Amino acid sequence: MADEEFETFRDTVYPFVLENDGRVHRDRAFQHVEEETGLPPSRINTELDRIVKDSGYLVLDSDDHTGLSMLVVPTDAEGYEAEPRDKLGLDAAEHAHITYDGVRVPEDHLVGEEGQGFYQTLAWLEHGRVDIAASHLGMAEGAFDRALAYSKERKQGGQPIGDYQGMRWKLADMRKNCKVAKSQVYHAARTIDAEERGDAEIEESLIEIASIAKLFATEMACDVAEEAVQIFGGKGFARENEVEHFYRDVKAGTIYEGTSEVQRNTIGKVLHDEL
Ligand SMILES: Cc1cc2nc3c(=O)[nH]c(=O)nc-3n(C[C@H](O)[C@H](O)[C@H](O)COP(=O)(O)OP(=O)(O)OC[C@H]3O[C@@H](n4cnc5c(N)ncnc54)[C@H](O)[C@@H]3O)c2cc1C
Repeated sequence: MADEEFETFRDTVYPFVLENDGRVHRDRAFQHVEEETGLPPSRINTELDRIVKDSGYLVLDSDDHTGLSMLVVPTDAEGYEAEPRDKLGLDAAEHAHITYDGVRVPEDHLVGEEGQGFYQTLAWLEHGRVDIAASHLGMAEGAFDRALAYSKERKQGGQPIGDYQGMRWKLADMRKNCKVAKSQVYHAARTIDAEERGDAEIEESLIEIASIAKLFATEMACDVAEEAVQIFGGKGFARENEVEHFYRDVKAGTIYEGTSEVQRNTIGKVLHDEL
């Protein structure tokens, strides 16, 4: 994002998103997916798409999938509804089904330029995918560390379970997968930083390396968390155990901001010069 664009984004969005102490409001979300369309955002086709200027207000009123714009919609806007949904994991993050019915917001709630929403969303997703990859790498490492420590202390048959080759191979694979994901995440983050600083001509596709990082790290985190539960045996299945918590939390990473299948489609498009 260029400096000017960032300033507009910051001035428009931050007051809605951040509390006075700089923390993110609990009830703020970035919506880019619709119930009927999923990702990519180019498929969005409900009445949220186009902006019609109407006496200083932006009226959400279109059935066209082009010309997407990004808007801040306050949660107390008339016609906005959020219906909370229960879910498998990520208990700290609220999940809701959101509907907009004839919502109107003031003109200054437009983020950036009219008609740029699709590109803004893509830029967000490029970064977002690397963020998700990093957080899933962290969860996988958390599950791995706990499983390794447990394998050294839990004894069966007169020896620590970590002395059995079957357990060692599991732990070796978990370690290998975390390390490979880490190199992908760092590579993606460094490349995006270098591109933003204008350090060098980037020859790789940023969208591809972001997709690879997310795809690998999230699927790897699911595998590692599952193996960690297995290493803990019955204790791993108990709610009070942290590896059970990781096991439930990591799954969402293969779904949000582009499912694993969507990441594979994206990589395939890059390979065929379609992106
Ligand atoms: C925890 C969580 C948080 C979320 N947070 C947000 C948020 O903040 N904002 C937001 O807007 N959305 C959010 N989402 C929604 C999320 O982005 C969507 O669920 C996701 O993009 C998939 O869309 P969908 O659920 O409509 O599934 P669908 O698109 O219906 O997909 C169903 C299945 O079909 C597969 N599929 C679909 N199309 C293809 C294809 N072309 N090729 C191969 N396979 C395909 C999918 O990979 C999936 O396995 C969140 C979801 C979760 C679970």
